[in-house]
Amino acid sequence: MSAIIKLVDVNLWYDKGKPTEVHALKGINLEIEKGDYVAFFGPSGCGKTTILYAFSGIDRAQSGKIFVNGKDIAGLSSTELAIFRQTNIGIIFQQFNILPSLTVLQNVALPMSFVGKGVKESEEEAMKLLKRLDIDDYAHRYQFELSGGQQQRVGIARALANDPQVIVADEPLGNLDSANANNVLEFLRELNEKDGKTVIMVTHESWSLQDVKTIHYMKDGMITGTKVQTPKPKTDVISAHLANEIDPAKKEAELLRDELSARVLSNFLLRGYSMDEVRRFEVHLKQRLRGQIRTKDFEEILDKPFKDGGVGLWKGKAKRLAEYVEGIVEKRHDIHAVLQIIEKHPELAIADEVRQIRDWLLLDYKSKVSSEKALALDQAVSDRMRNYISAKQFMEVLDMPERRNGVGLSFRTAERLSEKMETIMSGAETIAGPLAL
Ligand code: ADP
Ligand code: MG
Repeated sequence: MSAIIKLVDVNLWYDKGKPTEVHALKGINLEIEKGDYVAFFGPSGCGKTTILYAFSGIDRAQSGKIFVNGKDIAGLSSTELAIFRQTNIGIIFQQFNILPSLTVLQNVALPMSFVGKGVKESEEEAMKLLKRLDIDDYAHRYQFELSGGQQQRVGIARALANDPQVIVADEPLGNLDSANANNVLEFLRELNEKDGKTVIMVTHESWSLQDVKTIHYMKDGMITGTKVQTPKPKTDVISAHLANEIDPAKKEAELLRDELSARVLSNFLLRGYSMDEVRRFEVHLKQRLRGQIRTKDFEEILDKPFKDGGVGLWKGKAKRLAEYVEGIVEKRHDIHAVLQIIEKHPELAIADEVRQIRDWLLLDYKSKVSSEKALALDQAVSDRMRNYISAKQFMEVLDMPERRNGVGLSFRTAERLSEKMETIMSGAETIAGPLAL
């Protein structure tokens, strides 16, 4: 085998010479063989994304040498680098990076037009990729019309646009539920096995390593170890995920989080129903939040008579509730991603994300909200997300009059909105304080 990517003593600093300087890659030596399936694995902030960006030519290393296909990329101009990237390396970004003003088809065709292909040819090729990813029905839609899983598939289709030899995926499972994560892993494996692509994945989730052939462990800007493994015969990624024994503490925290959310949410959504109905609903809701059942099955269970093991809601209510829960499942993924980002970069502005969450909170609030109220609400949402205030304080701010810098909502509305907010927060609390299980 020959090395398709080679790094020799690579160092990369961010903000070099400034007080904020970060030595993100420290003397990296690495060879990636053609046709390998490689993972960089390590905790948040250890330099995984940086290493991808270094050999993809997105971030420039200050010292050392980087060869792709035997070519020293330091010698390329920015334009040459851009073209090099478009044709050699397909990147599946963590945050999808889909252009909101273009349709799905145009997004996937775009990298082809960068390398000089005509519109018609590009769009034909793009359509084939969309078919392969089973998302061609959405070709003429825009990003905002897609679920997280669908956006991820668009991101993958776009990465394949110029048929690059190397596919790079930065935390491709971060925003997805188990079922969608399973699909992505299967697809990466297929690209490696059937298409013979060199696949490089970044992950901090050990359960996603099962198909990988070479694992580079990273810590603090360095590669601390490398393991070559023979992939196990195909097993169900979801069950592997649930039976995960490698990181029991994390698994427990996640399960607990779903448990808390399911409880808060059940009481919230089935107000006025009997205890038995709420309990039954909670059990299935938990399965849905964990991606163990699909939305269709969830809706059926809600509709099914209580005596037959269902929740016994009437059809219209079951449908509406199932849709509502889908919104929450998606918002939980969104907020989870945002929380991870601000945990790492607390200085980052999250105004857009906050606004989206505010709009979602206000979806079933009928009267019009003044721009002052909306601003005050944004501030409260941001404070809650950064954990500056508790669930109870969040409600108090919402209820407080505007002249005292509150949002000025009625007590009942404040209570409802803060309960709704907690359904998507990772450490859910009730308004009365942390839940006792
Ligand atoms: P990982 O992907 O493993 O979570 P990163 O490669 O994103 O880690 O980051 C490695 C280190 O470099 C972190 O300390 C991070 O804060 C810092 N860093 C990453 N990108 C930048 C940037 N654009 N400017 C300044 N520092 C950065
Ligand atoms: Mg990263």
